[in-house]
Amino acid sequence: MDIPRIFNITEARHRIHNPFMPEDLETLGAALDLRSGTRILDLGSGSGEMLCTWARDYGVVGTGVDMSQLFHTQANSRAQELGVSGLVNFCHNDAAGYVSTEKVDIAACVGATWIGAGIQGTIELLNKSLRKGGMILIGEPYWIQTPPTEEIAKGCLAGAISEYLLLPDLLAFFNQLNYDVVEMVLANQNGWDRYEASKWLTMRRWLEQNPKDELFEEVRALLHSEPERHTRYTREYMGWGIFALMAR
Ligand code: SAH
Repeated sequence: MDIPRIFNITEARHRIHNPFMPEDLETLGAALDLRSGTRILDLGSGSGEMLCTWARDYGVVGTGVDMSQLFHTQANSRAQELGVSGLVNFCHNDAAGYVSTEKVDIAACVGATWIGAGIQGTIELLNKSLRKGGMILIGEPYWIQTPPTEEIAKGCLAGAISEYLLLPDLLAFFNQLNYDVVEMVLANQNGWDRYEASKWLTMRRWLEQNPKDELFEEVRALLHSEPERHTRYTREYMGWGIFALMAR
């Protein structure tokens, strides 16, 4: 079981697989008033940076579920490196339908809401693991400005303009689902560059080391087109943030 191999190649060196920077995770952790023993479930936990650093900084405990074998391995190494292996537990699994045995204080899905077939389904899934009065974290893109054409939306790697909302409309959507938005931390263009631009050197090195690989041509084409695509589209039109929600 694994995610498509191209992501394991292009994001092999990422600690955070999203436009967030370490200081954004720090800001969010501080904003959420995390305590020692706060229980967190993270679906699509990637290389585990959020859980591991919050365990180090606040003593939170938790489980991360991720389908990438590579990111799962990296999450375990990071936990060891930060000395938090006793606090966090990473599970290599499909998170679709995953419900924790013990209820958690915070249930998160950061940049992987396809796991629940969209925002609403993911909130419903997370809710099954959440204690009454607990908090949900959703990491999701939004439009900074609505793309004037569908072609521009596709340039942002969105299926269509309708796939994402403007930020106020996204917050209104959470509201309609009967959730209070109680916090948010938004990425900025530097964060987008850390996420996107740091794939380029990874790709370049991978190409040098894997000239005979079946994905060589695909990675070559991506390295050729991605810098221009990112700066022309994603960097200008897309925002991204983590939103903290509490049911009313
Ligand atoms: N939350 C992490 C990772 C976000 S990237 C971070 O912010 O760094 C999206 C993650 O979802 C990837 O790690 C990918 O491996 C994982 N993923 C994709 N489909 C999944 C699924 N069905 N179940 C579990 N994880 C999945």
